Amino acid sequence: MNTRRKFLQQSLLGSLAVGNSDFWLNHPDLSAPLHKNAVPVVIATWAPNIKANAAAWQVLSAGGYALDAVEAGVRVPEADPNDTSVGYGGFPDRDGYVTLDACIMDEKGMAGSVTYLQDIMHAVSVARKVMENTPHVILSGDGALQFALSQGFVKENLLTEKAKKALEEWRIESKYKPIINIERHDTIGMLALDMQHRLCGACSTSGAAFKMHGRVGDSPIIGAGLFVDNEVGGAVCTGLGEMVLRTLGSFLVVEEMRRGAHPQKAVETAVKRIVKKYPKQSEEAQVAFVALDRKARHGAYSIHTGFNYALYQQGENRVIEAGSLFEK
Ligand code: ASP
Repeated sequence: MNTRRKFLQQSLLGSLAVGNSDFWLNHPDLSAPLHKNAVPVVIATWAPNIKANAAAWQVLSAGGYALDAVEAGVRVPEADPNDTSVGYGGFPDRDGYVTLDACIMDEKGMAGSVTYLQDIMHAVSVARKVMENTPHVILSGDGALQFALSQGFVKENLLTEKAKKALEEWRIESKYKPIINIERHDTIGMLALDMQHRLCGACSTSGAAFKMHGRVGDSPIIGAGLFVDNEVGGAVCTGLGEMVLRTLGSFLVVEEMRRGAHPQKAVETAVKRIVKKYPKQSEEAQVAFVALDRKARHGAYSIHTGFNYALYQQGENRVIEAGSLFEK
């Protein structure tokens, strides 16, 4: 059976099992999980982040805090030189600078973010320090770097030989055209619900490869690349940041869930909104969302096929192919 049909069947079974959205609208108490052992749970964009989920699970399964879990998880691809979209080894901008965007959000609605950060591998940990140790939400560029150094982070060269070579090859034509599902391991967005029902999320990326110098994407922007509301659920996304920034995609997903939508319906609504608004751009660009609600139910959806995500729940860490609006 093809993946698409299987997916449709699965979502149909899922909706029969959990009831329709009106039911949840009339039963706004989302505090208890749907199934026994549904928590803890962690979900992350893209298959290779199954390794990030494993790191997060170590924290969660020991009864730890979801915030510690998402930080530990996101640090995995940040340190991986073979992941060319996040942290060390991330592809640079067109001038040769690796600039990182990251954010984190806790169950109390507090948030921290860094944009355009250079020379620090673990942008997500700097974002957490911004949240915990400053009165601000976002620090950017040199200010973010100076803050990181003041917090004990160490400067490192993040530009690998592989990334340098990719830039040289790109410069031959210098065509800026983000490729759909490039290498299938883009930005990491992660959501976790711990045993105490605390929902937290984080996001980290080196942004679009060969972007203009100074460009900041959706990933460090609260409401765009990530949004968490512990009363309802959380959402993260990956793909062409400009389309998400203009639509505040993750916020939209959470607000749909607040109105009673199942996470799967909520992510589908956000994707459809983006495609309706930007039909031409959507033909060539990918955007994908992952959502998790207070009941530990999840959803994922993208514009184009090829998006997948990693889910660790009930002791099982697995990769799932997401449904998409366009077949090819
Ligand atoms: N959303 C990221 C950005 O636009 C990139 C990605 O997810 O691939 O910066």
